[in-house]
Amino acid sequence: MKVIPENMAGFTVPGENVRAIRRFLTARKRNLLDMSPEDIALFLEKMGLQPYRCGQILRWVYRRGVRDFEGMTDISRDLRKRLSLQLDISIPEIAAVDTSRDGTRKFLLQLVDGLQVESVLIPERNHITCCISTQVGCAQGCRFCLTGRRGLLRNLSSGEIVGQLLALKEACPAENITNVVLMGMGEPLANIHHTLRALEVLISPQALGISRKHVTVSTVGLIPGIRKLAAKPSASLAVSLNAATDEVRNRLMPVNRRYPLGELLAALRAYPLPPGRRITIEYVMIADVNDTPADARRLVSLLRGIRVKVNLIPLNEAPEIPFSRPDEYTVLNFQNELLERHITAIIRKSRGSDIRAACGQLQGGLGR
Ligand code: SAH
Ligand code: SF4
Repeated sequence: MKVIPENMAGFTVPGENVRAIRRFLTARKRNLLDMSPEDIALFLEKMGLQPYRCGQILRWVYRRGVRDFEGMTDISRDLRKRLSLQLDISIPEIAAVDTSRDGTRKFLLQLVDGLQVESVLIPERNHITCCISTQVGCAQGCRFCLTGRRGLLRNLSSGEIVGQLLALKEACPAENITNVVLMGMGEPLANIHHTLRALEVLISPQALGISRKHVTVSTVGLIPGIRKLAAKPSASLAVSLNAATDEVRNRLMPVNRRYPLGELLAALRAYPLPPGRRITIEYVMIADVNDTPADARRLVSLLRGIRVKVNLIPLNEAPEIPFSRPDEYTVLNFQNELLERHITAIIRKSRGSDIRAACGQLQGGLGR
């Protein structure tokens, strides 16, 4: 850990640093953002408070952007004091912002222990999408992605996941963020506990109240996590398939050895979709690896019987990545093979690649 929280400066011996950070974290008050609306209701009940207090506090925090109990003016001074003795309301701090030529903005956010993650605001034709992270780094090691090159440093708490959106809203009060995608740094379903709680806060009408249609979780294909999400659907599902054979997928994504294509597609077939909804299949297109018409046809037969739309993502190149992006003709041809076989296929425009804010380019300050 390179950066030490301000009030811990002075600890210089490495072992001492780790112990001090642990003490610092356990001595901290509980962050209200780490609690689901249900957790908060229970907590307040234990304090002997009326149930309506929960809605009151949630409105202040999630609708009006108040960051301390002092600002909750319809709560008595005495109660504000009692609450602030037990709870914090803390969001990540913005350490840097980069703006792309295409209007995409990348935010570097500092967490309580000094680690950093990135979140991205992507203006689209008539709405704004916020892309947030679920882990610092990633353990999945996909060969074409920069995020995991230093491995996984730690999971984010649910409050840190939701806190990214709150920090961006606070920094850009004029923007109307309508869509949230858990597609930033990390693998959301490898941090399933905190991801599920964050989803609860994002969609709960008492908290952020975003429609679940407008919240998307993107996964590398961790089957146990997909089943958990299926049991309590709280978001749209996107799966990064990226290959149409086990041989190619094994080469690109180590996870395929644990959860091979056959098992993954069976889990997707069993996934309960609300009427009119589809699973998004993400397919990063890599020159001479997975981009031939034959690959497209294999993909079509894999997806038979599953309600899907395919997002084709031409590889975002980087010197550290040993692959290249196919030419435009190859991408269009691939798309056409899918369309001709009645599979909806969209080519995802690369956004923010000049500031390393595009898919697979987030490194949370580690690559600066
Ligand atoms: N871990 C999750 C979500 C974060 S990655 C997942 O893998 O789905 C978000 C998306 O970026 C994934 O679809 C991934 O396949 C894609 N991606 C990763 N590296 C990329 C690159 N270099 N170019 C284009 N897309 C990339
Ligand atoms: Fe992790 Fe997703 Fe990148 Fe794979 S593509 S290394 S799962 S962030």
